[in-house]
Amino acid sequence: MIKGQYDRNWAMTRNTGNPAHAHEGSQKAISKDGRIPIDLLISPIAELVTAESHDGPVRGEDMRDIKRIKNAAIAISGGQIIAVGLADEIKHAVVTDENTQIIDASENLVSPGLVDAHTHLIFDGNRADEFVMRSQGKTYTEIAAAGGGIVKSMRATQNADVERLVSLGRKRIERMLESGTTALEVKTGYGLEAESELRMLEAIYRLKSESVLDIVPTFMAAHAIPPGKERERYVDDIVNDMLPRVVAMATEQAEREGVHVSHMMPYIDVFCDRGYFTLEDTRKIFAAAIKLGLKTRVHSDEFVNLGATTLAVELGAASADHLLNVSDEEIALLAKSSTVAVLLPGTSFYLNLSDHAPARRMIEEGVAVALATDYNPGSCHISSLPFVWGLACLHLKMLPEEALTALTVNGAWAIGLGANIGQLRPGYQADVTIYDVKQLEEVPYNIGWNPVKQVIKKGRTVYSR
Ligand SMILES: [Zn+2]
Repeated sequence: MIKGQYDRNWAMTRNTGNPAHAHEGSQKAISKDGRIPIDLLISPIAELVTAESHDGPVRGEDMRDIKRIKNAAIAISGGQIIAVGLADEIKHAVVTDENTQIIDASENLVSPGLVDAHTHLIFDGNRADEFVMRSQGKTYTEIAAAGGGIVKSMRATQNADVERLVSLGRKRIERMLESGTTALEVKTGYGLEAESELRMLEAIYRLKSESVLDIVPTFMAAHAIPPGKERERYVDDIVNDMLPRVVAMATEQAEREGVHVSHMMPYIDVFCDRGYFTLEDTRKIFAAAIKLGLKTRVHSDEFVNLGATTLAVELGAASADHLLNVSDEEIALLAKSSTVAVLLPGTSFYLNLSDHAPARRMIEEGVAVALATDYNPGSCHISSLPFVWGLACLHLKMLPEEALTALTVNGAWAIGLGANIGQLRPGYQADVTIYDVKQLEEVPYNIGWNPVKQVIKKGRTVYSR
């Protein structure tokens, strides 16, 4: 396949979210001796790694308890995984013919496709100048006073039309794919007024339709308070004006694609923190959004703790993200909830902070932890999940196995796709990342170098080098 080129037919394959539909795409009949005909066989594999969960994210100590199989194989048909196991066993269980593609991964590690559960992928302009200012010791406040910060991205994004936002997004998604990402969440939040926020959402829908990757949209007009606007007034704008228009756009998109509106409804996210939105603002926005059928996720406890994680658990939010200042009580609440803790070690690294989210304590207490990039133009211009994997081991003290679980199964549950992606298991969508290293530990060990060699999405090679 040609690098970066997507097959539209495959791009349009709908995610049913139900592994019971596993064999839908396959036209082939099972052979007389009961063996299953397949169209892709990855065999032999130096080491196959996958976490497994049947009914929700993996939590606590179970996160390190992954499957590691040497000399393994994966059989794929109709875009779905048919069989996973030892190469010798798989050979006898399936039928190959001249149309079966065989990938020799005898020198390679193979994992599920990586899932990025937190990105701010759509924006115009860049903030490289701020990176330099920061390296010279300028503070966030000084940078903002010099015209930098989120407002700079807002101005550039407000001036961009949908076409431009889509083309910028397309390039960034391609870069993520080259680093092994096969599914991602994308937020709005640089428009900060109705028209621009909706333009961003439209760009995300366009990318979702055209891309072979699974893309999950999030509406995040409550990313910052636009300059010159009173906070309460802006919250009212979101609740009374923007949210109903978001639902109208999601409904239109669902009709266009012939799917139920629930497949197109974005998540709602709020930056609940000092200098951003209060707990009351967050509660108000979430209440209105839930009434309209949106699910919640929240930027919580990044700078200070305002109680957003408690609120997230109370509302059954899909995820609470950042969590540098999460309290012990909230860790206990998360452990008992279905809310996934999405940790973003790239941001602390990029901002040169000495503080990190208490990942070890969360895992010991039984929280389901996911990892994501937080890719954005200011505080974390990092789009590589293998890099984040290395940071998670170095700074969050996570084991390579725990990080794998966080970057696959738990990331998938955090964005509502856990029943269909994130695992190498029969019935799951065939999203596979193949590495130019032979074992799990070598991915974080090679931090800074892209170890990804080939990416399979829905049973097809969509990137190779
Ligand atoms: Zn973020």
